[in-house]
Amino acid sequence: MTTQEFMLPASAPAVVAHAKGDLRIEDVALVQPEAGQAVVEIAYGGICGSDLHYWLHGAAGESILKDPMVLGHEVVGTVVQAAADGTGPAVGTPVAVHPATPGPGAAKYPAERPNLSPGCTYLGSAARHPHTDGAFLRYANLPTHMLRPLPEGLSLRNAALVEPASVAWHAVARAGEVRGKSALVVGCGPIGALAVAVLKRAGAAHITAVDMHPKPLEIAAAVGADVVLQAGDTEAIAAVEADIVIESSGNHFGLASAINGAVRGGRVVMVGLLPSGPQPVAISLAITRELELVGSFRFNEEITEVIAALADGTLFVDPVVTHEFALSDGLEAFETAKNSAVSGKVLLNFSLA
Ligand SMILES: [Zn+2]
Repeated sequence: MTTQEFMLPASAPAVVAHAKGDLRIEDVALVQPEAGQAVVEIAYGGICGSDLHYWLHGAAGESILKDPMVLGHEVVGTVVQAAADGTGPAVGTPVAVHPATPGPGAAKYPAERPNLSPGCTYLGSAARHPHTDGAFLRYANLPTHMLRPLPEGLSLRNAALVEPASVAWHAVARAGEVRGKSALVVGCGPIGALAVAVLKRAGAAHITAVDMHPKPLEIAAAVGADVVLQAGDTEAIAAVEADIVIESSGNHFGLASAINGAVRGGRVVMVGLLPSGPQPVAISLAITRELELVGSFRFNEEITEVIAALADGTLFVDPVVTHEFALSDGLEAFETAKNSAVSGKVLLNFSLA
């Protein structure tokens, strides 16, 4: 490592959502980091559903974009300036990023589940105002509590899925013991496909994957699904009778399939974020079949297990990444990510200007 001091440039290119339908790749002014922040040179950023929602709708669920915001929470990079307070990794350390900062205050939630803390902030989220800028930015100032050093042998490119894989890992953990059980995954976008991979690694005996499009089903099969079904095939889905169901489509048709495909007494984990407000779902089956409906939101320290499992090769996720674009082609990258019939996870490469 060179001892030469890193000089933070005055500005750097970023992906900024200005308003509904107004996404720009533009230079933003950089500020010096606070004492507890390191400067991370971002290498890769994965485009998430929430990033797409801010661009397409000016909102993600209840979070409404009121000011321009840098998008992005699925990022990896290298520390180029360590935090002034001495915390966190040294210069040159490759890191993944845990995007959450738990909220302050004494509201009631289980202490070991800070993902549920009220006021929790997340990179690239308009849930609060002022918004929390994301890290689709060549040089990002990040609090050191977010930084997770990558072990030897895990490349930045392969670590780019750490954040969404942690979401999937948390969802599978919410299902309880999966070894030897049958599983159904409804919705095979990146989170669903990653849930298939995590289930496979956790020893699920048989995995069925459901989606509307052939491409996501192809990815699901490549990471471990034994059977794939078209979303309209309601009879076949009902016949699955899975012990565990992961609902990762985020729409009420998917939730209906999840309930229909669960075995009597089974558990349905809902990780796909439904639109806010009432949802038309025939929920009575959940009563008469004594289904357990369980919510799953973001993740906590699962990120540590995910990094280890990616590093030792036991979590196989390579087919989930389908496209990579230079940051300068960011708008095309977002267009590609929007089209779930053709893409899985789309990565932005920040080192290609
Ligand atoms: Zn994400």
